[in-house]
Amino acid sequence: MAHQAHDEPASTSGPEVVRVSDRNPRVRVVRVNRPTPGETTFIQATVVGLGVTLKHFFRNIIGKRDIETIQYPEEKYKYPPRTRGLHRLMRREDDHTVRCVACMMCPTVCPANCITIVPEESPDGSIEKRPAIFEIDELRCIVCGFCVEACPCDAIRMDTGVHAPPSEKRADAIMDKAHMLALGARSTAMQGGRGPDWREGRLADALVSDKQK
Ligand code: SF4
Ligand code: SF4
Repeated sequence: MAHQAHDEPASTSGPEVVRVSDRNPRVRVVRVNRPTPGETTFIQATVVGLGVTLKHFFRNIIGKRDIETIQYPEEKYKYPPRTRGLHRLMRREDDHTVRCVACMMCPTVCPANCITIVPEESPDGSIEKRPAIFEIDELRCIVCGFCVEACPCDAIRMDTGVHAPPSEKRADAIMDKAHMLALGARSTAMQGGRGPDWREGRLADALVSDKQK
């Protein structure tokens, strides 16, 4: 008995099966839908892509919608209140002497190894040491804030809200004690980390000012 191949309805996707052998159903004639010349030259896709580009171009030029770019430095983003900026060294109640007691906690914890402290004896009998040299290499600093967390004296903060300024020489990126003290302020926090957390106050102030807007 002769076996005849029979026709099969075309599938809706993929290669189209035109005929299937009666002897072996795995033997088939398929029609592969090759891309058209218009598709292989990508002319149609290019025109569609240009259309999308032009649509966004005119939409943003005319309405200035969807533009996230700001006109820096005239416009600046408002940073969150706990943004970590340049370091500063806080001063004691006399608003003059540095709070740092050269305990070496911050250079020990610093993962970038960018804090250099050379201690010296303090003339104040109630304080053992103070930093003769206190330097931070802002180019190496990874702004992790560990130094602030480790300090038991509220001597170092990163709440200036400003970035390390650009510099042409590496030496200009090193902040020394005088520079950081000039950025600092009087702190009445209790030595040893006791007392209210000064950051909570800043956070509360920021929340109040946000509500007033
Ligand atoms: S912020 Fe981090 S990397 Fe920078 S000085 Fe402090 S501990 Fe070191
Ligand atoms: S942890 Fe605080 S007190 Fe200790 S060396 Fe650093 S800044 Fe000074």
